[in-house]
Formats: sequence, C-alpha cells, structure tokens
Amino acid sequence: MSLLDRLKAQIAQDGPIGVPEFFTRCLHDPRDGYYATRPDLGAGGDFITAPLVSQMFGELIGLWVLETWTRLGRPAPFRLVEMGPGDGTLMSDLLRAGRLDPAFLAAAEVWLVEVSAPLKAKQAAKLSDAPRWVGRLDEVPGGAPMILVANELLDCLPARQFVRTKDGWAERVIGLGEDGQLAFGLRGLGKSPDAAPLHLPEAGKGSIWESSPAQAALASDIAHRLVADGGAALLIDYGRAEPEAGDTLQAIQNHVKVDPLKTAGLADLTVWADFPAVVAAARETGAKAGPILSQAEFLLALGIEARAQALAKARPDRADQLGRQLDRLIGKAQMGALFKVACLCAPDLSPPLFEDAT
Ligand code: SAH
Repeated sequence: MSLLDRLKAQIAQDGPIGVPEFFTRCLHDPRDGYYATRPDLGAGGDFITAPLVSQMFGELIGLWVLETWTRLGRPAPFRLVEMGPGDGTLMSDLLRAGRLDPAFLAAAEVWLVEVSAPLKAKQAAKLSDAPRWVGRLDEVPGGAPMILVANELLDCLPARQFVRTKDGWAERVIGLGEDGQLAFGLRGLGKSPDAAPLHLPEAGKGSIWESSPAQAALASDIAHRLVADGGAALLIDYGRAEPEAGDTLQAIQNHVKVDPLKTAGLADLTVWADFPAVVAAARETGAKAGPILSQAEFLLALGIEARAQALAKARPDRADQLGRQLDRLIGKAQMGALFKVACLCAPDLSPPLFEDAT
C-alpha cells in the first residue's frame, strides 16, 4: 500500500491531520518517506543545492569556519558538526579549504547529523576520513566547542499553517475531499489543544501564516550547546528575513513543482526557513544571533568573486561555467536574495561577518 493510500486510510479512520504530521510522514515514513527511501539531489535528481552548484560554496564556508575556529582560540579538539549533509559535498569542499591550516584539520572532530540511510551511504563514499554519524544533535557529545553548519536543513522541518477566516484564525489540516482524495481543510483553533502560545498578527481574510515549532526548537537546542560549550552555527536556507504571511509549502520532483497532496513520499517537501523565529529562539536561550544576511551578501563578503577569478585563471576552459555558477549562487533572481544566512553564537564570540550579533 502506498504512503498516499495509507494516509487516506488513516484519515478516514481517525480524522484530519495537521500539516506538520503530513510533512514528517512524507519525508521520513520508514517505508515510503522521501528521505528514508529515495532522496535524489543534484542536476539529474529532484532538486539542486548550493554546494552542488559549485565547489566555491563549500570552500568559502570552510574559510569562514577556519576563521571562526581561530577566533575561538584554536581549540583542539572541537566538534565540527554538519546537520543534513546531503551527499557530503559541502563537508568535502569545506575540509579541502581547511587544509590551509593542518592544525585545524587535526583539531576537527567531524560529526554528521543525518537521518537518511541512503544519504549516509553517499556521505560515506564522498568523505574519505570516516566521520561519525548521529541522528540527533544531542547525541554529539558536549564538553568541547562546536562549529556547526547546515545548508537547507531548516526547510526540512515542518511548519503549522494558520488561515484567517471570518471567525478568526483556523489551522490548516489535511483531510479527505468528497472524491476521497487528500484535501486541505480548516480546524477552528478552539479545538486545537496547543493553540494558546501562538501570537498571530492582525491579517486580512484568507491570508496564511506559518509557524514552525520544530525550527525554533532546533535553534534553541543549538543555542543551548553554544552557550554551554562555546562556538558558532551557520544556518543557510531559503526563507524569510522578516515576519510575513504566505503559504510556502512546496513539493519538488525532478526540478518541477508538484502537488504535495498527490505525491506523498515521492517528492521533496519543504517550507521556508523562518529566520526571525530562529534568531529569536536562539536569543531566548542566551546565545547571540543575527544579523540575517542574504546569501549574496555573505558570499561576496567572503570573496567569492576573487575565488571565481582565480579558478577561471587556472582553468580558462571552465571560465564560462564558473561565471554561470557564480551567477546562480549570488544572482538576485537566482539564489542570492531568496537564500539567507544566519549565525548563532556563544555570547563571548564574534564570528566573521557577524560581529554585530546581539
Ligand atoms: N545540506 C545538503 C542537503 C540538503 S537536503 C546540501 O546542501 O546539499 C536536506 C538534508 O537534511 C538531507 O541530508 C536530509 O536527509 C537531512 N534531513 C532532513 N530532515 C532531517 C532531520 N530531521 N534531522 C537531520 N537531518 C535531516
């Protein structure tokens, strides 16, 4: 029985489910979830990410990590953690840049936080020095400073969706339509047991507001660790830099947007990262956080143009391709503006480009 059919049977028996439950089943159902069974990243797969666009992305993040480690006082060992490492490309490029300083590589204890068995196999094939794998951040031992990076992980953590109706706010749920297919519906917040902590803004009828307890909880977990042990975390994702309304639930298969309710488990499913909520959760936990930079600002400040020129000089035959990669990563109409970068850090640290964190 497909995941879609199992969800329909469950909803027929127990009633509608919230967007987060649907989202988590689509990505992680042990039998049919997208990441559990068929994640396919890259140009020939379902979606492409910045490290797969160009080696420059991971290399520049490597330089950022190296400088952050230096500002931490070059601790040995330190935990170099990546959450949601995909096929391992970002970590591989980051470690190559880290070769600039052999002491950095010797001090780095690499931990990968990953839940997908097929992707763990790809990471193992890509990374020659065996990293350590865990399924959750709290399984990475404390007691040493941590530098954490995560690209396109927040967008894998679900959001609840709320819709403004004439009677006030209601939660968007997934039930069955008259045709027996999955359909969006609404549940009055009165019946939702955990509606109380929400601070929903004034908004016009029909507007959709998202709130991701899972993203905020991850930011809080990371911040706890940074406050206890020192260090910094770099979170990169597409998302909002200001609180704003909008339905950002999106399913992608073979680089094309598809209907999330028809493709359970077959497509990648994401919501926007809610950077204002992530930054607020980290600050509440006692860490410093922000400012929220665009990916273009971040990569330009790290010198991506000079890096592209150097690579093109070494390989003139690849100059055109490098120019296209550069544009893809920093172009305003491409990943440069929609993608954001936020840093969370221990109160006593000033990471590069985030010296103004508060
Ligand atoms: N960072 C990579 C891959 C992004 S895809 C890149 O930029 O190319 C999302 C990654 O997050 C995958 O590795 C996926 O398996 C992982 N992931 C999804 N949900 C997760 C969770 N709850 N905990 C840890 N990793 C998760």
